[in-house]
Amino acid sequence: MSKLRYLVTGGCGFIGNCLLRKLIPLENVEVLNIDKLTYASTEYIPEDKHLNKYKFKKIDISDEKNVTKAIEEFKPNYIINLAAESHVDRSIDGPKEFINTNIVGTYNLIDKAYTYWKSLPKNEKNNFRFIHISTDEVYGSLDKGDSPFTEESNYLPNSPYSATKASSDHLVRAWNKTYGFPSIITNTCNNYGPHQFPEKLIPLTIGKCIKRESIPVYGNGQQVRDWIRVEDHVDGILQVVNYGEIGEKYNIGSQNELKNINVVKDICKIFNEINTSDEYNYEQLIEFVDDRPGHDIRYAINNDKINTLGWKPYYSWEEGLRETVDWYISKPEYFNVKTKKSYSGERLGKL
Ligand code: NAD
Repeated sequence: MSKLRYLVTGGCGFIGNCLLRKLIPLENVEVLNIDKLTYASTEYIPEDKHLNKYKFKKIDISDEKNVTKAIEEFKPNYIINLAAESHVDRSIDGPKEFINTNIVGTYNLIDKAYTYWKSLPKNEKNNFRFIHISTDEVYGSLDKGDSPFTEESNYLPNSPYSATKASSDHLVRAWNKTYGFPSIITNTCNNYGPHQFPEKLIPLTIGKCIKRESIPVYGNGQQVRDWIRVEDHVDGILQVVNYGEIGEKYNIGSQNELKNINVVKDICKIFNEINTSDEYNYEQLIEFVDDRPGHDIRYAINNDKINTLGWKPYYSWEEGLRETVDWYISKPEYFNVKTKKSYSGERLGKL
């Protein structure tokens, strides 16, 4: 049986790392990970027994020559595009990198993938898929009583980050509608779990609890996000690779809407339970700070469409968060190693 070749971009990032952990142990699979290795990346090392199934190349997705070479040499059956600049705060202080990677990089990748796809024999051409990973933030912000975003919701991005992701979604859609390129888009909500760069809300809060430093919470902390465990999101992506319809979009959410302040309090509660040595209450670390400009009030997404592909989230919030806290506590060095590259602007944490 011939092997299925997956080209993953951004495999050294938070979600990419989880995708590689799930993909590589599968039978008859080979993976090429191309990643620019930005500050947000962590090295992915497969188990010894899987080393021959995994290749890595340090490549920027906007690099025309090297992206072409990587695709032509590896001859992928599937491309899954996760490479992106992903932190809203950084996009507010420096949008250019977001435009370079999320827009120009995605354009370059689909352009080179399209040229490759056209050259394939009929059978391989029919089976090829390009999966573009995007965010619920492209839909803008909901008010309290509004229904969750569906795949038909208008695009109304509010931050430079979400505007670049929206642009990339439009490019991927246009290559399908104009050229018949076999692409599918997924839009997910806030992911949490192991290996996330500790500038984002959950690892940031856990790191602050470990060090007993103040936990910055934007504004009044009432902003609502839907939180999905990263493993559930990746299972959804793989379901879309196998069963998704070409030219379609799929929202991947967890129907787990939580206010930011409650996410922080739930983490503090876990630390209060774990710490039996003194009477310390971790909630005293919470510090409300000036709100992020243009801060979206609420995101929530409707899962009905991806449910029809036989996917639903597995993790409960309680179990998923507890395991996540335990993982970061077991790796305190994760916070130290990263400190030198951490975000140093005025805004803190993806809320
Ligand atoms: P991340 O920031 O943790 O990782 C991004 C990875 O992409 C890093 O390894 C980085 O080195 C790499 N990268 C950045 N620019 C690159 C370039 N020009 N060329 C090649 N590689 C490059 O991001 P993540 O949280 O893993 O997110 C992955 C994807 O999922 C992104 O497209 C993001 O927009 C989307 N997404 C993430 C979330 C979330 O909660 N984390 C939610 C919705 C959507």
